[in-house]
Amino acid sequence: MTKTKASQTQDARTAIQPTLNPGDEAPPGTIGTGEDVCPDCHGKGRIDGAPCATCGGSGTVVRAIGGA
Ligand SMILES: [Zn+2]
Repeated sequence: MTKTKASQTQDARTAIQPTLNPGDEAPPGTIGTGEDVCPDCHGKGRIDGAPCATCGGSGTVVRAIGGA
């Protein structure tokens, strides 16, 4: 019996999918966006000892930059 590659393909898609945190306005690398200090944890990545949910514990969020 041949093993299906369905799960493998799913893993690959998950791997290339950029991690988007609740505080991110766009995927990292998107033109017109940039990293900014998380407004909730102020760059610490933690709030009261728990990982910040807004930035996913990274301390930074991706925000749209006003280009005009
Ligand atoms: Zn945060």
